[in-house]
Amino acid sequence: MSSPPLRPLRTSKGATVIEGAHVVTCAGAEYADGHVVLEGNRITAVGPGPAPEVPAGARRVDGSGCLVTPGLVNTHHHLYQWVTRGFAVDGTLFEWLTALYPVWGRIDADIVRSAATGGLAWLARTGCTTTTDHHYVFPHSGGDVLGAEIEAARTVGLRFHPTRGSMDLGQSQGGLPPDHVVEDIDTILSATEAAIDSHHDASFDSMLRIAVAPCSPFSVTGDLLVGAAELARRRGVRLHTHLCETLDEEDYCREHFGSTPVAYMESLGWLGPDVWFAHAVHLDDSSIEKIARTGTSVAHCPSSNARLGAGIARTRDLLDAGVTVGLGVDGAASNEACALLEEVRHAVLFARARGGPRAMTVRESLQLATMGGAAVLGREQEIGSLEVGKLADVAVWRLDTLAHIDIADPVAALVLGAPPPLELLLVNGAIVVERDRLASVDEESLAREVQGASRRLLARI
Ligand SMILES: [Zn+2]
Repeated sequence: MSSPPLRPLRTSKGATVIEGAHVVTCAGAEYADGHVVLEGNRITAVGPGPAPEVPAGARRVDGSGCLVTPGLVNTHHHLYQWVTRGFAVDGTLFEWLTALYPVWGRIDADIVRSAATGGLAWLARTGCTTTTDHHYVFPHSGGDVLGAEIEAARTVGLRFHPTRGSMDLGQSQGGLPPDHVVEDIDTILSATEAAIDSHHDASFDSMLRIAVAPCSPFSVTGDLLVGAAELARRRGVRLHTHLCETLDEEDYCREHFGSTPVAYMESLGWLGPDVWFAHAVHLDDSSIEKIARTGTSVAHCPSSNARLGAGIARTRDLLDAGVTVGLGVDGAASNEACALLEEVRHAVLFARARGGPRAMTVRESLQLATMGGAAVLGREQEIGSLEVGKLADVAVWRLDTLAHIDIADPVAALVLGAPPPLELLLVNGAIVVERDRLASVDEESLAREVQGASRRLLARI
């Protein structure tokens, strides 16, 4: 039995004036006592001191004790996994995948709607205003799972870049996923094109863009990768996949294709400014050079990489080579927290653990989560910084409680301190989080719904 979909509580899209806050624009400016003005879905003023003009009927926000940043951008996720957290918690990647595929193979649209609503709601509570999702499990009798997560994003109110993922290399062909969750190439490519036709909005203000995302080199065929790249370029949408996550994957590529994963992808036309790879942990210098030269981007997922013991990405080397890097929580089954702000903290800590105290600054890490993520998704003109004319995606963090009040540097308080209360989160000008509570959906009802979905799914095993 499924639950009725949650109804949005409310949205508010009038003018908002935030004053008296520490403002970090992520466009090169920082104001210790500044203002941000939002009208409709756009930013109309940013600067030092009070707002020069207050639109009639504007909501006034006293930002004293608060830090204002652009909304954070999440560049890799698997939202359906929100209802399969806490499995194989001490296992290897192979043990983890083997334990979870039988569960994932039984998802359907109702389960995915609940899971995605939970995952998106938690992203919002941790400062995220735009997220992608890599959905690649399409059970043959599961219904419209992509449509279900799109509905969830509308309910929560986040800007959404879901990908139509895929797998075509099942167990009977030597792959890892069970045969009943893999599809044939023609089905995949026609369903992907239908998803672009139905949902993709290329406009400046877009709340929804589709990308094309075969799962990984070891769960899809080279023919599918070539066909997916051709389709994406013909339709002008982006390409995404997992790459260089583990050493096992590198061994697999050397054994099956006689090359590194990056050289293999290059041979299939999968490097370029319209491509972003999740993880990119195990890269040699030549692979970094190829990624940089082609303008390919990277979604860095430090918590998931640590949770699965995959390794620590060469973030400093990627940035020094000129690669665009964003942050990602990755799927909830390999990152039970799925809290985007935590990735900002982990990105700076892991970079320093690997490369020493100067490997990354706290402001650089925040930059990865904002402008970096926006550029990874091809939205650097629209989101990722507080600049006049950009979309009104803004986070207001409260830094005047016990956990942060005496941390001298507000950006360090956000990045290195405990996750602070989120005073306000606006997406496209609408309030999604207010006083550390979701404004768009009722959290208690949602918690019961995701628990029910998780229990129904596990009962199917
Ligand atoms: Zn992933």
